[in-house]
Amino acid sequence: MTEIRDTVILGSGCAGLTAAIYTARAGLKPLVLEGHEPGGQLSITTLVENFPGWPDGIQGPELIENMKKQSQRFGATFELAHLERVELGAHPIRLNASLGEIATRTLIISSGASARWLGLPSEQALIGHGVSSCATCDGFFFRGKEIAVVGGGDSAMEEALFLTRFATKVTILHRREHFRASKIMLERAIAHPNIELRTNTVVEEVLGVEDKEVKGLRIRDVKNGETEVLNVSGMFLGIGHEPNAKMFAGQVDLDEEGYIRTINNVFTTHHGEIVPGVFACGDVQDRRYRQAVTAAGSGCMAALEAEKFLEERGR
Ligand code: NAP
Repeated sequence: MTEIRDTVILGSGCAGLTAAIYTARAGLKPLVLEGHEPGGQLSITTLVENFPGWPDGIQGPELIENMKKQSQRFGATFELAHLERVELGAHPIRLNASLGEIATRTLIISSGASARWLGLPSEQALIGHGVSSCATCDGFFFRGKEIAVVGGGDSAMEEALFLTRFATKVTILHRREHFRASKIMLERAIAHPNIELRTNTVVEEVLGVEDKEVKGLRIRDVKNGETEVLNVSGMFLGIGHEPNAKMFAGQVDLDEEGYIRTINNVFTTHHGEIVPGVFACGDVQDRRYRQAVTAAGSGCMAALEAEKFLEERGR
């Protein structure tokens, strides 16, 4: 018979690792399934300057590695396994992972959200070297430079407006004629003297792969087919995020954009009723803040609730 675990944590970003530290320290011997992007979004950023406690900043991958070690010190274990199927309504909860079947009394879902990328090989090669999907994380590095933001929704407008604090010029590149952004956000961007908006424009290539830094963008006007080089030192993607929650559809409530709905940040529901023992934390349930520190905070809450859940049932 399969061993029944007290806690399994899905995802090893900031939320999952914080949940691992807390549940491990509570003696629950959590198993962390690292998922397809071990370390989450922090593992693809460079310097993190806004995580409290690091006056000189810390590299994202190092912060993640530290958290992982901290949880391992208290007994958390990690597996590079992918989840294939879950039965959240079962008692114990059943998981089918690439390493076999797992049964657990509590499950902490911290599978995160993945930034959407254009998918160009040159873009992928320059992530962390001038290509970013997080203005609050990386904007500071573009002080005095010219940059581009791709996208036509509120995220793109918000990123562009934020980035004017650092960049001398921000060019918004949108693939269509009309913007998806709300009127107020669009008007703010249009009114800003350091923002230029270019419609019907797509990025064909990010230049600078050999130099390991963005040297410009080859862009194309989709109406007349003409290409040109836009001289920028950075490209920010503002084309949305995808919560990694599809696998739970039909077993927990998702909002209209696919994020897990939670009550008090971490309690999951199904048809509005709390799902016993299943908690969600971090970006998979947060489309508003999406910060390392808020993810860590909700990871802590999920861990405390899992502990309380087990305690109330005599574990
Ligand atoms: P979004 O509204 O889905 O907009 C994504 C934008 O990216 C769209 O303009 C889309 O173009 C473009 N896009 C998507 N894939 C692309 C691709 N492969 N190549 C080029 N362009 C691509 O996403 P969002 O801006 O992240 O906003 C998500 C939600 O959060 C919205 O409800 C938004 O209102 C909200 N939000 C609010 C605020 C705020 O109020 N302060 C800030 C951020 C986000 P098309 O238009 O052609 O589809």
